[in-house]
Amino acid sequence: MLRGSCQKGSSSILSNSFLIKHSCPTIDEDDIISVTTTLKSNDIAQGRCVSDLENIMSDFVGRRGAVAVNSGTSALHLALLALNVKEGDEVIIPSFVCSALLNALYYVKAKPCFADIDPDTFNLAPRDLKKRITKKTKLIMVPHNFGLPADMNEIIKNSIPVLEDCAQSLGAHFQGKKVGNFGIASVLSFYATKVITTGEGGMVLSNSQELLKKVRDLRDYDEKKEYRVRYNYKMTDIQASLGISQFKKLPSFIEKRRMIAKKYSQEMKPLRGIMVPQEPQGTQHIYYRYIVKTEKSLTNVLSKLRKEGIEVKKPVFKPLHYYFPVRTHLKHTENIWRTAFSIPIYPSLNNGQIEMVIQKMKEVFS
Ligand SMILES: *Cc1c(COP(=O)(O)O)cnc(C)c1O
Repeated sequence: MLRGSCQKGSSSILSNSFLIKHSCPTIDEDDIISVTTTLKSNDIAQGRCVSDLENIMSDFVGRRGAVAVNSGTSALHLALLALNVKEGDEVIIPSFVCSALLNALYYVKAKPCFADIDPDTFNLAPRDLKKRITKKTKLIMVPHNFGLPADMNEIIKNSIPVLEDCAQSLGAHFQGKKVGNFGIASVLSFYATKVITTGEGGMVLSNSQELLKKVRDLRDYDEKKEYRVRYNYKMTDIQASLGISQFKKLPSFIEKRRMIAKKYSQEMKPLRGIMVPQEPQGTQHIYYRYIVKTEKSLTNVLSKLRKEGIEVKKPVFKPLHYYFPVRTHLKHTENIWRTAFSIPIYPSLNNGQIEMVIQKMKEVFS
């Protein structure tokens, strides 16, 4: 049989080199049924399933409305446009985060201002953030890194609009409230290995109908009364129907992640030379990532674990401020980048795999 290079089967030899992958979607039979039902209906582009998913997600997070788009990056882009962030505006973001945030800022020609993180939570450090505020600061973008809510109490005290990035933290709680409820708007990603997936996808959520209306208008270009630059950022019903069936499993996904994290922490806390992740008072971590800090050489630790078949990664490929020739010095960001790594955690890990990860960690940190 001939196979195009886009078909996963053709590259299976390469992708199977790890016994335990770092991240992996959790797809069941009901997801497949949900998607095939949509395919058979002939309504496969943006339609009923997309608006159903928007309603499901805004109800779940607790915001008045939501607009689905084709990626988390698109969600960030349209949220920035709707918030009127533009050339000359400064936006504070952590450096220890994926480059999607930086891209979205450049799409609207805004200036990124990097703030340091807290070395225990890996989230924006409120005191450092405060130092970055100037007259030009238009917005603070707050990712809840790796599934743990940022310190929203302190961050919102600055009286500067906040855009929450919940791409890694859907369902996490801060002081009894779900993340996504603290800013003027919040975004989600449904990329393949995010908390729940639509393959690729994203969403903007808000209580402001005016903001949501702007995002909705910018998302597609057809049948508009006046011309302006718009985008084709639509989600398809094929994707949304996967999102709807994934959503039904969200509580069990979070429970499984927390269960694995609890087991990891019990077993790894006593080991020498590592520190397990924290869950500060008043927060509920969903453990999108399980990040360990080590006193040993990170290069050695990573290569040993990889040789044993465990795919481990740096939590952030490269801190964003490292991409610039003139750098601010961000002490904790730089230190965490040199000492922290991420081990496999996702709902489809089975008990044998969990035990294997623990055993290999024990061998490296004995
Ligand atoms: C994945 C991710 C994004 C980008 O989402 P895409 O759907 O991949 O565009 C943005 N922010 C954070 C924190 C993410 O983890």
